[in-house]
Amino acid sequence: MPQNHIMTKDKQITTKDTPNYGFDITHKLPNSLARAGVLHTPHGDIQTPVFIVGGTKATVKTLTNDQVRSINGQAILANTYHLMLRPGADIVEQGGGLAKFMNWNGPTFTDSGGFQVFSLGVAYKKGINAVANSEQGDAGKAKASSDQLAKIDEFGVNFRSHIDGSALRMTPESSMRLQWQIGADVHMAFDECPSPLAEESYIRESLARTHEWARLSKIEHDKIWQEHQQAGKPYQALWGVVQGARIEELRRESARFISDLDVDGFGIGGIFEPAEIPTAVNWAVQELPEDKPKHLLGMGNQISDLFLGVEYGIDTFDCIAFTRQGRNGSCYTATGRINIKNTQFKTDFTPLDPECACYTCQNHTKAYINHLFKADELLALTLNSLHNEFFVVNLVDRIRQSVIDGTFYDFKASYLERYFKKPFNP
Ligand SMILES: [Zn+2]
Repeated sequence: MPQNHIMTKDKQITTKDTPNYGFDITHKLPNSLARAGVLHTPHGDIQTPVFIVGGTKATVKTLTNDQVRSINGQAILANTYHLMLRPGADIVEQGGGLAKFMNWNGPTFTDSGGFQVFSLGVAYKKGINAVANSEQGDAGKAKASSDQLAKIDEFGVNFRSHIDGSALRMTPESSMRLQWQIGADVHMAFDECPSPLAEESYIRESLARTHEWARLSKIEHDKIWQEHQQAGKPYQALWGVVQGARIEELRRESARFISDLDVDGFGIGGIFEPAEIPTAVNWAVQELPEDKPKHLLGMGNQISDLFLGVEYGIDTFDCIAFTRQGRNGSCYTATGRINIKNTQFKTDFTPLDPECACYTCQNHTKAYINHLFKADELLALTLNSLHNEFFVVNLVDRIRQSVIDGTFYDFKASYLERYFKKPFNP
């Protein structure tokens, strides 16, 4: 039976049952849920809080692994749905598992594929916009079409591949099998993420299903771990997902249910507005054991989410919007976002962000990147992805340091006031 272990600095990291996996809280911010720690995985340690780099299809779009390391990327999150379709979880397994297959050789996560089954898994023949909208996390639009094409039942979901329209099925058990094959260090339990705008009766029904799926995910997970253990393979952790939309009673109930399953960590699911973190996320975190790591699933691209998430006890984040926006020309700076394609930058020979230490800002000007976009040159996508991903990874690293130094609240207030050009009130 896998046991989750919390290590102090002096104790050994490895345990008999879950070798090389554990979470160690090293610093706590007084009078707050914020903390800094170390997540130990078979592929290395992760300093938390951390922004996990999006590697949906076993690649960080437009960046090499060396470039990801150059921006201090510590871990990569790939997607089970995408990898089961292409190249197939069995191919990733044959390639030595996700970390080796993509030659990253560092810590990796997978999400369960549930969100994409409900959103992308219905986009076939709906045109590219359906896919693009889903990738932006536009659950409202995705939900509208999923009602027609993704068929959900008590035990799983029937859906169609967005690539070729073939009929497929995903269940809690198959999601677990696929994730163990893909071989990331941390897996997420299969869940349904209902639109926060859905009727309360639907949210209740969906939550009951998510809980049953989490229970089945854990049973299957334990079964597969026994098989792997006998074969001498390393542990892969399972984090359960808390849902419950914006309803306090359901959030708390969900957190208690998932916590009772004795999973290794938690994903807080939902589609959050910044103002919901002090409520929906906080309700869940209050009910969860303090000593296990927590991931914010479904954060938007709001810079303030990173501060609020840490403040309310989140340890790990991911969001693909930052690189996608970069590829579209939108760049983050300490004083807000700019669109580098705008004509005003044609003769601006300063860096994207004069305070930024990334490769792009150390070597290139806005005028040059503006030119690359105008000329449809691929280097534009790499330079902007490098910059935006560095921006967000580095910001979470600074937030982490402010928790350690005890300066979190001052840093949050001054940073967000400058970024939004007015005092920040969620
Ligand atoms: Zn930069």
